[in-house]
Order: sequence, then C-alpha cells, then structure tokens
Amino acid sequence: MTIHGLKCILSPVIIIKSAREIEQLKRSNAIVAEVFQELRKKVVPGVSTLELDRIAEEIILSRGALPAFKGYRGFPATLCISINEEVVHGIPSQRQLREGDIVSLDVGAKLNGYFGDGAITLPVGEVDGEAKRLLEVTEKALYIGIEKARVGNRLFDISHAIQRWVESHGFSVVRDFVGHGIGMDLHEEPQIPNFGSPHQGPRLEKGMVFALEPMVNEGTYEVKILPDGWTVVTADGKRSAHFEHTIVITGDGAEILSKL
Ligand code: MG
Repeated sequence: MTIHGLKCILSPVIIIKSAREIEQLKRSNAIVAEVFQELRKKVVPGVSTLELDRIAEEIILSRGALPAFKGYRGFPATLCISINEEVVHGIPSQRQLREGDIVSLDVGAKLNGYFGDGAITLPVGEVDGEAKRLLEVTEKALYIGIEKARVGNRLFDISHAIQRWVESHGFSVVRDFVGHGIGMDLHEEPQIPNFGSPHQGPRLEKGMVFALEPMVNEGTYEVKILPDGWTVVTADGKRSAHFEHTIVITGDGAEILSKL
C-alpha cells in the first residue's frame, strides 16, 4: 500500500533494523510473496476481485499472520485491487476481471509485529501491446530503483533513476503517492517518491528497510480519488501499473525480502 505524499521532509528519522528484526521482516514478506505466487494462477477472465481477496486472506491467516491493510484507516479488505485506469487502493467487489484488463494487486501481511508489503500488476488473458509495454516498463522501473538502493547513494538517487527510466519510455510517474520505509509500522519514514533530483535526500545505510513502489501511468501523472474515498484513478482515464517490493539495504546493494 502506498501513502499520500506530504510535503518534503528534509530530515526524516529512518529506523535502522537489527539483524533480528530483518529476520522477522523476511518472514512477513515471504508470506506476501507466497500470496502473489498463488494469485498469479488465479487471475483469469471471470474471477471476481472479492474471490482474489478471499484467497489472499486465507493464505495470510493460515501462516499465523494478519492482513495488514484490513482496517488500516478503515480500508475494508485484505488486497487493494486496481483495474486498468485505477492506480492504487481499489476495493475488492463482485466485479469480474475481463480478458484484456490489467490488474494491480497490492498486499500487506503483519507477523509478530513486523510488516510485509508488495504489489504486482498482471495481464488478464491476452492484453494489447501497449499494456504489455506498460507492465514491462513499470516492473523494470522497480528493479532500477532497487539497483540504486545501496550504501553510498542518497534516497533520491532511487527516485531519479525510476523517473528517468519511466519518462524515457513515454510514460509518467504518479506524484501524489509514494513508497515508504517499513518495519513495525506499515508506513515509516522516509517517504520515497518515484521522481526527484539525484544526489539529494538522506544517505542510505545498511539496515534500512524500504517499500519501493513505482506507479506508472500511460498518460498524465495526475490522479484523482473516487467518491469511495480510496480508489485512486488516472485523471485522463488511461491505464496505470504498480509494482512493489520490500527491500533491505545490505553491505552489498539491497536484498529483496518480498520474493520467495
Ligand atoms: Mg507500500
């Protein structure tokens, strides 16, 4: 799940995690990865988004964890499910996925007080070429950001690399929602925009844990929130994709925690 970006915080307090805490975060994020492994098989034309939500919740509970988003500021479900022009924070419903849709699935799990968070966007059946390109560019944007998450760099080196990659492909990065630190809170400092100037922001240190999550639009980066108070959609109605991993900065680059 993303947070609504506030004004730039110049000196955020970024919590450095101990080896023991990183072990805990690995466990909660492994559950997130397991949910995606299962959902990849279930995303087909005709499945309702509520059914996907039920599957995700069942896996999380069976591992002794809790769905992290359910009840968060009143969010009613385990998954955020956002289809086509929906960017993030869509609410599961009776709506059925249709051939040609793209669907973003965002899930959080809390185990022993530690949070895991991740997101993927999947094609439903066969999708058009532009949708495939949007998904590829967005997923690659996440990995380009992860590549910059290393000791010696600054926070906005991540932001800048993502923005540059995305815009060089003719797409735009959402400004209003950003990635975040994560640990014993779902959303910790720092906020991690997917745009910005290089060599700015806090220095990255070993033991920082971040949820990086580029949100990439086909058209304008501008978004609006639907009357349900949650669903974020593109202002121009064009499609959007979202990929997210929770990572830890190590002595040698970064390790992805939300991956099996
Ligand atoms: Mg998140």
